[in-house]
Amino acid sequence: MFGFTRPSDSADSGEQTAYPKARTDEQWREVLSPQEYQVLRLAGTERAYTGEHTGNHEVGVYSCRACGTELFRSEQKFDSHCGWPSFYSALAGDRVEEIEDRSFGSVRTEVRCAACGSHMGHVFAGEGYDTPTDLRYCINSISMRFEPAAPEA
Ligand SMILES: [Zn+2]
Repeated sequence: MFGFTRPSDSADSGEQTAYPKARTDEQWREVLSPQEYQVLRLAGTERAYTGEHTGNHEVGVYSCRACGTELFRSEQKFDSHCGWPSFYSALAGDRVEEIEDRSFGSVRTEVRCAACGSHMGHVFAGEGYDTPTDLRYCINSISMRFEPAAPEA
């Protein structure tokens, strides 16, 4: 397992060690595909309507593709027609971390896995979707792994 926490090598990259399932950049490159790495570790965005989970209506759980932590459930998934899987709520409030993102000249809220710090997508509020929270967690398919619920015995 991960029996060590290495102090950050350079002064400006100290934030990653705060996550319980953090890995070094080198380790992430080993365990993730280049496409996964691009989104999860470099906060990229997959192209709309290309992700495998966008139109998925199966019952189950969505976990972080990088570390396996369960983050979202199909019960909170809804059809936003924005081209990415959308949820009105995360599994539990502390499973994801929300960070102000000022890239691309606007202020958005980035969603990261709270366990490993990997980029999931963004959350938008007040768009008027008919959901209990009026939030839209707009999450990259490639950031998540879907596990269907066990069939009823
Ligand atoms: Zn994670």
